[in-house]
Amino acid sequence: MINRRKFIALSALGSAALIDKKMMAAEQTNSIGAKPVVISTWDAGIEANKAAWKILGAGGRALDAVEAGVMVTEASQNCCVGLGANPDRDGFVTLDACIMDEFFNCGSVAFLERIKHPIAVARRVMEKTPHVMLVGEGAQRFAIAEGFPLEGQTLSPNAQKAYDEWLKKSEYKPVINIENKNNRGSSVPSQFESGEFNHDTIGMVAMDAKGNLSGSCTTSGMGFKMRGRVGDSPIIGAGLFVDNEVGACTATGQGEDVIRIVGSHTVIELMRQGLSPEAACKKAVERLVKIKGAKAKEIQVAFLALNKKGVTGAFAIHKGFSYALKTEGVEKLVTAKSLLAG
Ligand code: ASP
Repeated sequence: MINRRKFIALSALGSAALIDKKMMAAEQTNSIGAKPVVISTWDAGIEANKAAWKILGAGGRALDAVEAGVMVTEASQNCCVGLGANPDRDGFVTLDACIMDEFFNCGSVAFLERIKHPIAVARRVMEKTPHVMLVGEGAQRFAIAEGFPLEGQTLSPNAQKAYDEWLKKSEYKPVINIENKNNRGSSVPSQFESGEFNHDTIGMVAMDAKGNLSGSCTTSGMGFKMRGRVGDSPIIGAGLFVDNEVGACTATGQGEDVIRIVGSHTVIELMRQGLSPEAACKKAVERLVKIKGAKAKEIQVAFLALNKKGVTGAFAIHKGFSYALKTEGVEKLVTAKSLLAG
């Protein structure tokens, strides 16, 4: 997985695609208006977008792209997505994911254990059951019946170190870290091992060559969370929402607060009223900050959206949130604007 520093270094090596004029223009506007296009949360999105692009660039469907894209992150040794991620406070990795297509079809799994690709299970829930959401043991049983292998329960080496470190204080602090220059990026092992960086998620939304939208979202949620805790990421309307007439949105950060304002759905409804993706994300963030009052300082939430014209935008409570964008000839990280300085 590529972190931001490595990505900047790669840029400095002069990859033509990264420095063309199109990209410079995109840097200034945070949007491109091209299709196909895929965007995803955080630095890990760069690698995930590459996998999504293999499908989108070949004329494939956005739904297939957003599934394949986030599976890359699920399989990586990321602190906060997939089985390599940080466990809950009892030492078990529990995973949440959801997916949504251009026809309002959606599927979701939550509190799923020992399955490597929760996003693929979420898609099966969507396609093979009359339901939207399966959780816990039932979701695992369904996955096994669908042929997904039951993986072991051993923590990844990084997660074990982080958990051992966390156990020293066993401090239950269910607050999402606020990124700053010393503490950001899910691919920074020292922070992973120290347990300092306690969250991350990959949310991805895409538009294919036909102009259809889909989205996916997958996470292990908050590190060292209470057993059974489920965040916004598998909740349709909160962590992800797609309306093929309007746009697609995903969220990351403090899940409880994203749920409180049904964040992604709110952003889509604001876009329906004519706001740009960035302006809609900003309005949703403002709503949350107003509700939270002084406590807004303690949490991070970010929204990332794409409209029907292929324009992208994001907004966060605090600085430090970035998203990865891929379209023809463009591959880059975009730093989101934020409401509060710190
Ligand atoms: N939203 C996720 C959760 O609360 C965490 C994250 O996005 O970092 O589970």
